[in-house]
Amino acid sequence: MSHAHPELRTPPPLPAGGLRVVALGGLGEIGRNMTVFEHAGRLLIVDCGVLFPEEHQPGVDVILPDFTSIRDRLDDVEAIVLTHGHEDHIGGVPYLLRERPDIPLVGSKLTLAFIDAKLKEHRIRPVKVEVSEGDELAFGPFDCEFVAVNHSIPDSLAVAIRTAAGLVLHTGDFKMDQFPLDGRITDLRAFARLGEEGVDLFLTDSTNAEVPGFTTSEGELVPAIETVFRTAPRRVIVSSFASHVHRIQQILDVAHAHGRKVAFVGRSMVRNMGIAQELGYLTVPPGLLVDMKALEKLPADRVCLVCTGSQGEPMAALSRMANRDHVIRITEGDTVLLASSLIPGNENAVYRVINELTRWGANVVHKGNAKVHVSGHASAGELAYCYNVVRPRNVLPVHGEWRHLKANADIAVRTGVHPRGVVIAEDGVVVDLVDGRVRITGKVPAGNVYVDGMTVGGATEAHLRDRRTLANEGVISVVAIVDADTGLLAEEPDFLARGFVHDEATFEDVVPLIEKALAKAAEEGVGGAVQLEQLIARAVGTWANKTYRRSPMIIPIVVDA
Ligand SMILES: [Zn+2]
Repeated sequence: MSHAHPELRTPPPLPAGGLRVVALGGLGEIGRNMTVFEHAGRLLIVDCGVLFPEEHQPGVDVILPDFTSIRDRLDDVEAIVLTHGHEDHIGGVPYLLRERPDIPLVGSKLTLAFIDAKLKEHRIRPVKVEVSEGDELAFGPFDCEFVAVNHSIPDSLAVAIRTAAGLVLHTGDFKMDQFPLDGRITDLRAFARLGEEGVDLFLTDSTNAEVPGFTTSEGELVPAIETVFRTAPRRVIVSSFASHVHRIQQILDVAHAHGRKVAFVGRSMVRNMGIAQELGYLTVPPGLLVDMKALEKLPADRVCLVCTGSQGEPMAALSRMANRDHVIRITEGDTVLLASSLIPGNENAVYRVINELTRWGANVVHKGNAKVHVSGHASAGELAYCYNVVRPRNVLPVHGEWRHLKANADIAVRTGVHPRGVVIAEDGVVVDLVDGRVRITGKVPAGNVYVDGMTVGGATEAHLRDRRTLANEGVISVVAIVDADTGLLAEEPDFLARGFVHDEATFEDVVPLIEKALAKAAEEGVGGAVQLEQLIARAVGTWANKTYRRSPMIIPIVVDA
């Protein structure tokens, strides 16, 4: 098995007839999936998503793939194939299209409708190419065939890419629910047919590669959801992802069966369900949906609200209900159903919301206490099946942290893929398919690009370090008026601190240290505001560390007297 190496450099030119594959996101992390294929001087991009920040990235809205390595080659891009409409697959598209708006977007009907709604907010009118399973279309030297896959959003596609270098099959996100609500299963017959033709490189979803067995069917949630609706004494408030059309379909069906009316709450929920209904992916029984006003007039036991916020997102409807910052007031006897996953990293936020809702008297049903969620990704058993059906020559696990990629690679090897043909790569690692063999040949930049308020790519790791310091340690600013002739303090410095525990006397001890540092500097002939500021920062920093075991940010300001 080939592993990526940290000292990889810019790769040599791709040999004629070869195919180059570089993931700019999604390898070594869950999110911002983006894979760039290069052949005969042209590029094809599969997905362009965002990654959501973690606690150590304060203030960041979303994280984009780094487009540096393709920025000079945007004119070579034939198309962006979007496998499905999740944010971690389409969220980065507006930012890439800002750089070249006419790159064709290729995707299924629902995927294109979701990205279109998003692009409208960015005032971009994209070039769209709608495809469905079974379609074959060429984009420059890339002959693409689209294959139905089942996932936690309808209308997902895998893509087979034929070039002179061989046949590539990219699953996108998928699972193998044999009884999905829409009857549209992952097309294993197409996988098998492509396997017969000979898949030279198989890129497959690693998200659940560590989970043994098989992912349960969406339909198996019915009993638990039924129980909630049958036993809820008053309102039922359901929170789910605004893209999980089938989960919401189940909620609507059960609500209808129990004589409840439903209202959608939250901008993205209202928008997406409107799109899904209009395009026929969501079937709403007549008279079921009502607006909030009409809902308020109904008895509580005939009401169901469907909202966003299942991940504890502070601005989403559910969090605001929990914080009493929403028109919907949670009261004794309400039932809240979190019909969603709990994405790692969001636990604290979600449990905080559950605690608050419970405090207001709600009965909260979630995946921790009832079977109200199944994953959207194939587990180890399904992946093994896929390898056995496809029988690929080479494998590049995608979509996952290192442990997920490794688990997926191990499954590939166990099903008989030669270890030499299994490559574990991180973002930016260049994998070349030449003469039917894969090889890591280098690395291109693939760092984090932060969207931070209105700036894109402006915020650096240094900014985030400063924010963490401010959050954890606080800040002390020192204004020192220095006599230009002597280089010594002209008067007592002023201290201003925030987040650093202090009282009036705290800074008295540090003044002599500053005086000493300035005297030494004067003796040695060191002058200039910048140097003196550095000296002061060091003196105050050392003092804070020694005396208080704290490392606040120090902002020194030297003013000439
Ligand atoms: Zn997905």
